[in-house]
Amino acid sequence: SQPVLAVEGLVKHYGIRPGLFGRARAQVRAVDGVSFSIAPGETLGLVGESGCGKSTVGKAVLRLVEPTAGRVTLEGEDITALNRAGMIARRRRMQVIFQDPYSSLNPRMTAGDIVQEPLINFGIGSAGEQRERVAALFARVGLRPDQRSNYPHEFSGGQRQRLGIARALALGPSIIIGDEPVSALDVSVQAQVINLMMDLQDEFGLSYLFVAHDLGVVEHISHRVAVMYLGKIVEIAPRAALFEEPRHPYTEALLSAVPVSHPRQRRKRVTLKGDVPSPVNPPPGCRFHTRCPIAVPLCREVEPPLLADPSGHATACHLRSQASPA
Ligand code: SF4
Ligand code: MG
Repeated sequence: SQPVLAVEGLVKHYGIRPGLFGRARAQVRAVDGVSFSIAPGETLGLVGESGCGKSTVGKAVLRLVEPTAGRVTLEGEDITALNRAGMIARRRRMQVIFQDPYSSLNPRMTAGDIVQEPLINFGIGSAGEQRERVAALFARVGLRPDQRSNYPHEFSGGQRQRLGIARALALGPSIIIGDEPVSALDVSVQAQVINLMMDLQDEFGLSYLFVAHDLGVVEHISHRVAVMYLGKIVEIAPRAALFEEPRHPYTEALLSAVPVSHPRQRRKRVTLKGDVPSPVNPPPGCRFHTRCPIAVPLCREVEPPLLADPSGHATACHLRSQASPA
């Protein structure tokens, strides 16, 4: 079936003011050629360390930042060149949940008004129908009816994220972009919010792009997982393949830091040397070569392409890619 969201060759470069970094004008290559698609009812986890460009991908899909190049297709429609009004209209189909619901919820509006606002903006239903829909959404995300008259500061972090989810659901979207939606929550609350999102996915056939810095967070919810490093996807695979048979050395390193429940799966700890290099001047060849435990001389010269095998497991590594014979 047609993907809900398709991203092709997405690039986002930022110019840096002259003076910074001591050169005339530098480019931050935040996202450097990212492609993926998400099917109806599917969750793609998008994971990487801080600064890898994963949040920028989410923002570019939503056009909260303008892509430098590439194409974003929502339900078969190219939305890359839509103007602001066009994007606002598409918000009925594509919604967002942010990491910190507190900063994304208007502190002077009651919770009920926050959830009703999109219905008012889009002129959906009478005032009475809107209030009924708000009451149903509160119940669905596990908030009490009397909490509709509360203000965001009166909610716990987990309740605020439930409120953000209720607002995102109000317009009946087909896909929700979650920008680290549980990263600010306690572990036990993270699990509750993820389970809620999975229940809502089953009920409404929702798709999710779930951005996180921790593979452990996306394991439960994702059907497929993409791992980003310095602006590029280095591995993308169905969940089981990524967690049980990772191929890229960077994915192995990230996975070795994730606690696993089953002792048989305990992984050898891989510690990467050094820090993530600056996206202003990424290393030539394979961008991971400065930290890769198995790098060979070729890696410094030639960039490895992202090659997929027939199962859809794609890896960008000279030594580890298992491409299908063409
Ligand atoms: Fe490591 Fe080379 Fe593979 Fe890059 S291409 S991940 S440097 S082995
Ligand atoms: Mg981020």
